[in-house]
Parts: sequence; structure tokens; C-alpha cells
Amino acid sequence: MLDYNKLKASFEALELADKPVIAHASLRPFGYIEGGADTVLRAMLDSFASLIMPTHTYKTEIIPEMGPPNNGLTYGSGHARNQMAEPFHPGMRADPLMGILPETLRNHPSATRTAHPILSFAGINADLTLFTQTLYEPLAPIGALAEQDGWVVLINVDHTVNTSIHYAEKLAGRKQFVRWALVADRVVECPGFPGDSTGFQAIEPYIAPDTRRVNIGEAFVQAVPLQRLFHVVQELIKKNPLALLCERMDCERCKAVKATGM
Ligand SMILES: [Zn+2]
Repeated sequence: MLDYNKLKASFEALELADKPVIAHASLRPFGYIEGGADTVLRAMLDSFASLIMPTHTYKTEIIPEMGPPNNGLTYGSGHARNQMAEPFHPGMRADPLMGILPETLRNHPSATRTAHPILSFAGINADLTLFTQTLYEPLAPIGALAEQDGWVVLINVDHTVNTSIHYAEKLAGRKQFVRWALVADRVVECPGFPGDSTGFQAIEPYIAPDTRRVNIGEAFVQAVPLQRLFHVVQELIKKNPLALLCERMDCERCKAVKATGM
């Protein structure tokens, strides 16, 4: 059975005590954890200098009847979904797709949560990092973390959920998208929206030499330095403009990127 001490020892083995961290996690492979997600969060906060996680809220999204071309979106296809959309508010739950840990972090008494209506982040000891986010630069906190020699920590998940790769795609000049979200009684345009991450695991062999990994029974934690990650992503896209895109024929965002050649 996993408890605080076992988790703390595993996170400490990553040797990131003085580094700010962005994390993504699936807790299920851990099995039973004494104290649940709160215990995992406490062990992380005691092992890293600071912590942020995405607390994205996709249920605020609206699909309009028309918009800019080549935007990886079928305009007018959201009638049913638009009916269900809810206006963003600061206390809105993180999307369940992200797992339980971001919501646990958001609910921590010391946590700050940003106000982007779709792509918010929550964090602890990371206010200056979080406050770099704007409506126009939704992933700016990841750039700010890299400037502080930050790391990505992936708990039982692979690079398909590694949001930081999106930031590097933008640095490489890859196409970004526009989305729309409900805020109070109006619809807000959200530029700088990233592409699809389904193909991101292709980075694994290129970043493996820089990856620290700790196995915990059947489960694992891996960590990657952001600056190195950005460099590797940019090199891959420079060599192959279609690098890290997915192969799905029905993927509208990857198709839109391919159409621009970037
Ligand atoms: Zn795709």
C-alpha cells in the first residue's frame, strides 16, 4: 500500500527539491493510497519548490456558426454542445478528463487559480508564474517556468498529456487556433489555443536521455527539464514540419496544421 512516506521518497528521488514543477497525473495505477489524492499532493509540495497543474474547463467552450478559416473546427457543429456550455467562474471544477489531482490542487487553501475561461492553471508557491497568463498567451506560465529552470513531472502518464510540448510548438512557429468561451453572459474569443497532443508520445526516444524516472511498483513517475524539452521539440519540427502530429484522418487540428505546412 502506498502512503505519504513512500510517495515522498519516490518524488525526492527525482532530485527536484529546488525546482518549480508543472505536473500531470493519473493516480489509478498507484492503487490504494492512504489519504488519497491529498496525500499525493502533500508529498509533491514537500518534494518540489513549487507546483502548477492545468485546471482546464472545456465545458465553457462554444462553437460558433462561423469564424476564421483553417481553424481546426467545424463551424456550426456545436448546437447540442453549446446548449450545455456553462459560463466560466473561478470556482469551476477542473475538467474530469484531467484526473483528480488538479482539482485537489485547486481546492488546497494555499492555491491560486488563473482566470482563463478554458485554459486555467492552479498552483502553489507559483503566483508570479501563474500571473504571466493572459487571454492572448494562455500557456505563458509554462514559458515562465522554463525561465526558472522548471521541470515537467508526469505521474503514470506519457507525453500525450504533456501540455508543455504545446508551448514549444508555438516557439517553433506552429499554427495556433482560436476558440470561444462563455464568460458571464458573453462569448469571449480565446486566441493562442494549442493543437492536438495525440501524437506527442513520438518525442519519447529523443527526450529519454534527459528524463529522470522512478518506478513505484507497477506505477512510475518521470521528469523532464523544460528548457531541454523546448529545444528537442523545436529541433524535431525544424527537421520535419509535421513532427509530433497525429495520424488520425479525422483530427481537425492536425489536419489544419498540415494544411499550413507547419
Ligand atoms: Zn491530431
